Amino acid sequence: VTRLEQDFEVGDSLGEGGFGQIIKARRKCDDNEFAIKIIKFKSNLKDIETTRREANVLSELNHNNIVRYYNSWTVTANMPLDEYKKLCSDSEESLSTEVYSLSTKGYISEDNGVEEEENSESDEDSFVVFQPEPEYKKVKYLFIQMELCENNTLRHAIDNDLYKDEIKLSKYFREICEGLSYIHKRNIVHRDLKPENIFLTSEDVIKIGDFGLSKKILPDNNLESVQGNELPCGSLTDVCGTPIYIAPELRYRTSCSIKSDIYSLGVIYFEMCSKSMTKMEKSLVFPITRKYLQGLNFLTSNSKKKFLIRILLHLNDTERPTCDEILKILNSEKSIEEMKEMIQQNRK
Ligand code: ATP
Ligand code: MG
Ligand code: MG
Repeated sequence: VTRLEQDFEVGDSLGEGGFGQIIKARRKCDDNEFAIKIIKFKSNLKDIETTRREANVLSELNHNNIVRYYNSWTVTANMPLDEYKKLCSDSEESLSTEVYSLSTKGYISEDNGVEEEENSESDEDSFVVFQPEPEYKKVKYLFIQMELCENNTLRHAIDNDLYKDEIKLSKYFREICEGLSYIHKRNIVHRDLKPENIFLTSEDVIKIGDFGLSKKILPDNNLESVQGNELPCGSLTDVCGTPIYIAPELRYRTSCSIKSDIYSLGVIYFEMCSKSMTKMEKSLVFPITRKYLQGLNFLTSNSKKKFLIRILLHLNDTERPTCDEILKILNSEKSIEEMKEMIQQNRK
């Protein structure tokens, strides 16, 4: 019996992705509900490291607008080689976590070499290197227990005419900026910001989630400097996020800064302020937005919104504002000219 089954009553699936799946689970001891992300990965060091990054980053964060992390643990299971091969040949996407089928077939069991360990201490030694029997392959699962965000995602809100609800729109955007400001101050770049990764709780509070591609960058006091907060963040193939949210500099540079998240935020804000678009419409609008940004007539007539969208989507990342600057602009009654002035002053 795995910890999941021992401590939790497993509920519905909340979502599925390339990594595995997310399930709803009720903790038996106190009836509290959580979302548990189950990530399947191969037992090599590189995969262990990248998979753990999400749990490691999340465990450091404690902010009202970031998905709260509670715990994480790993399980190792033996999978017969033929079944393993079948799983792998079904392409990466369909490698959905077959943890239940494994446990019902008895591949996960104490006498079959189940290994569960807490990794809140992030102790590398806890990953024991197994000598697998020839007919079995070791498969590892990382379980991340986190806050349940039941009220769908920002995508859902955008698709339900968020642009018409001025109050909700500015509340959501403000909360996204607060959460993002918090992680940026800790030198973490999210790198996969999009409406699908921004969740809403039953109290309608924004929670930024899915830290699967997040990266810790070099600490730097001066967040405005270009070189200062850059650190190679892998090749573009690593950034498997939806293309329209990817900052243009990431196409020719292998380094990233918090300003790449600001670009994604600009695309998100644009969507929040606009009528819901189809994929087709988006693929037409966004290349144009980048090229003809200055001349484009946004669907919104509010000039503060236009001003914000323009500077968030600035092609030059150093010109994009920080989250704190965005919050200042949101709170300010100043004219656009005065706000431009304010940002210039801020940077001197
Ligand atoms: P992507 O493929 O976009 O990188 P992902 O597969 O890595 O995403 P998540 O974005 O973390 O995984 O989660 C996938 C889906 O599961 C989400 O879109 C959401 O519907 C659901 N989900 C994730 N986390 C939670 C949560 N804490 N509470 C409720 N539902 C969640
Ligand atoms: Mg996601
Ligand atoms: Mg992800």
